[in-house]
This record gives sequence, C-alpha cells and structure tokens, in this order.
Amino acid sequence: MKNKVAEDTYLIGIGVSPGIGIGEVSLVDQRPLIDKSLIDVSEIESELLRFRGALDLAKQQLQKINHTVSKQPHLRDHVYILDTHLLILEDEMLVSGTEKGIQERMNAEGALSRVLDELRSLFDTIDDEYLRERRSDVDAVGERLLRILTGVGERTIGNIGRKSLVVAHELSPAETMQMDKSRVLGFITDRGGRTSHTAILARSLNIPAVVGLENITTMVFDRVPVIIDGSTGVVILNPSEHTFKEYLERKQTFEFLERDLRSYHDLQPITTDLERISLRGNLEISSDVEQVKNHGAEGIGLYRTEFLYLGRSEPPDEELQYRSYCEIVQQVDGHSVTIRTLDIGGDKFVPELNLADEANPAMGLRAIRFSLQEDRLFRIQLRAILRASNCGKVQIMFPMISGVAEIRACKRILNEIKGDLDREGIPYDHNLRIGIMIETPAAVMIAPLLAQEVDFFSIGTNDLIQYFLAVDRGNEHVAYLYDPLHPAILRALKAICDAANDAGINVCMCGEMAGEPLYTQVLAGLGLHALSMNPACVPRVKRVLRQISKADGELLVDKLLELSTSKEVSIVIEQEMRNRLPDIFAQPLI
Ligand code: PEP
Ligand code: MG
Repeated sequence: MKNKVAEDTYLIGIGVSPGIGIGEVSLVDQRPLIDKSLIDVSEIESELLRFRGALDLAKQQLQKINHTVSKQPHLRDHVYILDTHLLILEDEMLVSGTEKGIQERMNAEGALSRVLDELRSLFDTIDDEYLRERRSDVDAVGERLLRILTGVGERTIGNIGRKSLVVAHELSPAETMQMDKSRVLGFITDRGGRTSHTAILARSLNIPAVVGLENITTMVFDRVPVIIDGSTGVVILNPSEHTFKEYLERKQTFEFLERDLRSYHDLQPITTDLERISLRGNLEISSDVEQVKNHGAEGIGLYRTEFLYLGRSEPPDEELQYRSYCEIVQQVDGHSVTIRTLDIGGDKFVPELNLADEANPAMGLRAIRFSLQEDRLFRIQLRAILRASNCGKVQIMFPMISGVAEIRACKRILNEIKGDLDREGIPYDHNLRIGIMIETPAAVMIAPLLAQEVDFFSIGTNDLIQYFLAVDRGNEHVAYLYDPLHPAILRALKAICDAANDAGINVCMCGEMAGEPLYTQVLAGLGLHALSMNPACVPRVKRVLRQISKADGELLVDKLLELSTSKEVSIVIEQEMRNRLPDIFAQPLI
C-alpha cells in the first residue's frame, strides 16, 4: 500500500514540451514482468517459432498504427518513427542475438532481454544526446515484443477513460501518437530525454510533457492530483490550494501567450531598433524540414549531415547525398541551407564508419580532422554539396576548425572538386559561401585570422562551452559546470562576434544557446546576424527579439562583461528580462 502523497511535493524532471497541465494522474500499465528461464533442448525449435511469431505480430501492430497515423495530417510527418521501429524489428543484432540466446537454452523473453541490455549499454556509451536517445526506440520495440511474449498484450493509452495526466515509465512514440489529445492533459515519465522521439512528438502535438523523473511511477497512484510545467520541468504532486491557484493563473497566461505566438509566424525577425537577425532551423533528419517551415524559420542554419550516415552498412554515395541535400534545399522557399560536412567522432558515434577506439575521443580524430584524413569520403560529400548548390541556396560549413591551415586545406580540396565539376560540365553555384564553426578555444583566439579566410562564422556553443570550460558536454557528473553564462564564454562570444564584424563577415550561432529566449537580447547585443535553433524554439525567440532593441542588448553585454561569476551574470539577465517582458519571463515558483 502506498503512502498518501504529501501536499506540494515538488519534483524536477526535464521539461520537453511546454505548457501547464493540471489534473489527476492516470498511471499507465507498468512494464511486463519477465520470467527468464532455461528451456529444454527439445523446446528450442518451438521457442524460436514463438519468437518469430512475436516478431510478425509486432510488425502487424506497427503497420496498423502506421496506417491510422498516416491519415492524421498533424502526425503524418512522424510516420518515419514507426518505419524506424519496423526496421529495428529486422535488426541483425536483435534478431540473431535473441535466436542465439534461445539456441543456448534461454527462453525467448530471457534471450531478448539479454540482447536489449547489451544494446542499451552500447547506446549508453554515446555522448551525443540525440543519438543516445535513439535507445528509446530500441526500448519501445523491445517492450512491444516482451508484451507479446509474456501475453500482457499491447498497451494502448489511446482510450484513457477520463481527462488526466498520463504517468508512465516510458511512452513509446507509437503510444504517444495514439493518444487522444482531448483526454490527455500532459504526460510524465520516468525515462526519456529532450531529444527522444516521444519528446519531439509531444511538442508537435502540443501536449505538455516532463520526462526523466526516474521514479515517478513508484511515487504516485491513480487519481493523485498533479500539476506539470513542461517548460521548467517542475512536477507538483498533490498541490495545495495556493499552488493550484498560482498555476491556474500561469496556465491561462501561457495559453494566452501561445495563441499570441502563432501570430509571429509571418512577422519579420527584427528588433525595435530595426536590426534584422535571421532565425533559422537546425536539421538532423530531412523529414523535419516541415517543422522548420511550420515554425516560421528562414531556412536551415545547420544541417547535421552525420545523420545521413547512420544506420547504413556503407557510407551514403554521392548520388544519395546529392538527392537528399537537393530535396531539402528545394523545400525551404528560397532560403538558404547551411550544410555542415560530416561531424563524427568524439561525441557523435557512427558505428558504420569503424572509428578507432580513442582514449580521449572529444579531442581525437573527429569532425574536420576525420574528413581531412578520409579524403575519399570527404571528396564524395563535397561533390554532392556542390552539385546540390545548383538546386537552390546552399552554404557549406566545416566543423571544429582549430587552425588556418585546416580551413585552407578544406578550400584547396573544394577548389579541386570545383575544377573537376567544371571539366565535367556539371553545374554548381560558383559563389557558394564557405563558413566554419567556431567551437574550439584556438579558433576563438585566432578568430580575426580565420575571418580573412571565410564568408561566415557559426558559433557551436555546445562544443565551445565543452572545450572552453573543460567540461564534457555529455557527462552528468560535471554538468553543473557546463554554463553558457560563464564569464569566459561571454568573453569568447564577444571576441568571435567582434572579429566577424570587424572583418565584415556574417556571424551566426547554431548551438543550443541560440534557442533560449532568455539570452536573445544578449545575443543581439553581441552583434550576431543569425541564430539557428531547434525549429520549435523559433516563435518564442522571435517574440522576444521583436520586443527588445540591439542598443539595449549592447548596454546589457557591457554590464555583463564587468561581472565575475555565472551566478551574477544570470541574475542580471533574468532581472533585465523580467523587467522588460514580465509576462514571458515569470518568476519561477521554486
Ligand atoms: C555545437 O557544437 O554547438 C553544434 C551546433 O554542433 P553539434 O551539437 O552538432 O556538435
Ligand atoms: Mg559541435
């Protein structure tokens, strides 16, 4: 018997889909209990058949959901997730690994669980958040199979009887897609991260969501009153009357502001003193281009091409890359697409490319270093990008440049390929703009020299902060040190922007910092010309941008540069933004 939940029990998770949900808990089925046992040699054949039967049934279930979901316009773009799950059902490691376990006399549930554990630990070694989160897709498929094998049956949350906040250990994308939006007021899960497909879907469906609470399913039971704030990640169990009223008011304000947000779609990204700062989308998967357009972003400021290399036994050839790039370029209504060359190694793990094991991969053979060494792969990609520049506006960008020699080497190879294309009579944009990501301290220190070599800079704050502060971006033990407002980072940003502006080249920011509305005024004051972010962040950033001035931003930056700690910097920024836009930057309640 669980204890009654104490009044105003505050929990903090990861807010992945903004909005406030107030209601009662609907605790969704726990994971199936798995009986792992040994089988007799004589049972191996029938156990193999049972496993294959489960694979077939899982396939049919997913195809059925796929069919239903494809008919719903707001979900159609996400059908690829179900296709991914169908592919996982055919994955060699999953299928052969489980069959091997059965041959070793494990029952199917036991053998499958072992493989799932192995896959989970493989994913856990990945630093990049987006790739690591793909583990949740394997988990979802694993759970579907285990439910079939244990006879628990398919879990559906589409038919929840009453309006409630769904609490679950984890929700698979298929389940999230089947939710009846009119009944689900929000969802809260033990597992998950910001870039899990479920989180992405929750944002598309506009359902407030907080994930990663670790043990919420063991703390609550059906009908416990709960409030969630999908922006801050706050979850309050059994709220007091006072808290309830506070959040009801916040919910009304949020909903008012949300309606207001839609009106920003076609408005210009322009400050009150008429400074135009282009707001662009970051893109990982080509099918997300729709998201970029739906949120009113002006083209793509960062296309992370490494995702094209994932899940293939061979790197994508020139033709495939050309077609993918072209398809994206043709969809962005005449805006530009900044294609970043392969950025793997270190935090981005592409198993298919067989990178060497390195003791210190973040400082190893990654990004441009890998491309310059793997000349053949690099040339294929450059040819594809150059050819795609004939389909629309393309810019090329090289990741993790740390010296002038590196960018010169890139340009030399690019020029050789241009020469080849000229000889072959293949068209491309002869004025293709070339840029680099500024992600290393070395690049910051020599920014004025680098600015002489390229047409634009793009600041990758995710890596820049990691290298500047010597804090592994994926290591939760030092996460408290990973701070975009560290005075060293502000000084670095200032140096980069000044170098670009002095040289008369454009400077963009495409790390996560660009999508945080709290920083928009500072970024305008630093002199950035463009911000590229998760497309869903564009309307919020645009709303702030249109209500601040660059001149005030400059004054704010001057003030911040006098401060000595991150804490002081964040207090000043929060105060400034709260004074200026009190509705948007409300005081946190805890
Ligand atoms: C960055 O480092 O800020 C960046 C945008 O690149 P990625 O996150 O892909 O390393
Ligand atoms: Mg980076």
